[in-house]
Amino acid sequence: MSSEFNLIQQYFSRPTPDVVLGVGDDCALLQPNTHTQLAVSTDTLVAGVHFFPDADPDLLGWKSLAVNLSDLAAMGATPRWCTLAISLPEVNEDWLASYAAGLYRCADAYQIRLVGGDTTRGALSLTLTVIGEVPVNQALRRDGAQVGDVIWVSGTLGDAAFALAAMQGRLQLNEVDMAALAQRLHAPTPRVALGIALRQIAHSAVDISDGLLADLGHILQRSQVGACLHYTALPSSEIVADLVAHPDYDRCVLAGGDDYELCFTAPAVQTATILALADTLNIRLTSIGAIVADGGLQCVDADGQLMSFNLAGYDHFAC
Ligand SMILES: [Mg+2]
Repeated sequence: MSSEFNLIQQYFSRPTPDVVLGVGDDCALLQPNTHTQLAVSTDTLVAGVHFFPDADPDLLGWKSLAVNLSDLAAMGATPRWCTLAISLPEVNEDWLASYAAGLYRCADAYQIRLVGGDTTRGALSLTLTVIGEVPVNQALRRDGAQVGDVIWVSGTLGDAAFALAAMQGRLQLNEVDMAALAQRLHAPTPRVALGIALRQIAHSAVDISDGLLADLGHILQRSQVGACLHYTALPSSEIVADLVAHPDYDRCVLAGGDDYELCFTAPAVQTATILALADTLNIRLTSIGAIVADGGLQCVDADGQLMSFNLAGYDHFAC
């Protein structure tokens, strides 16, 4: 590696006091707590595929870690450690400093330690691996949904997708609304505390990265069950609710990516507990339907009539 690429390491070598051995040796040494299992996830973000090459590097720093933390949240895992592999066409110190600032802001907010990584010359891409801990057998999995479970979703749906639609010129938003939705797209909030709180409450969980229908679909497939959703129950922000007549509404709310909310299922007896959790964590939690024996993923309107959607052609390109 050229010396200029060695220089990059400086941006990602902050001290990691609660790690046995962090950046600087052949490997990091990590000490898991006893009676925990490790939850591990890797994501690669490629310029031109997952983000615009001219994306604000500070926001990209936040988002590249936040989307991985969202996977830990979906498992009910406590974030502990992460590594970063970064490929860059050339060393741009301003870009790196800004990217590192965003990354560490997110890392500090969620108490995850960057313990190693690699840098190479090549097309711009970012690969993050996150490691979390969860007490033995308490992880929230996709294969645990049971018939009769209530289906819940955190936060609101469609904000990020409408921000992207506005950026692509498919709708006009005033400056304030655009800023609010763009925040959701560029700086998602991984629901880490919620995931941890749902251990031993939820039967299954997934994070919504590719849209509610696709991600809930993963739970249904892995759990071998169906679902009935109530269209009118789907939670949307005030801004998105005002866009209900927009032709992109269903696609954004049902199939829009990048919300990074959690979708989870829990037995009906947990409903009061979950609503109390919403108060405690100050997070909106909405029941949107129920797990049924079969029939795939169905959605009914206010009159209980089955709805069908044409959601094809949605272009998932964000940041
Ligand atoms: Mg996920």
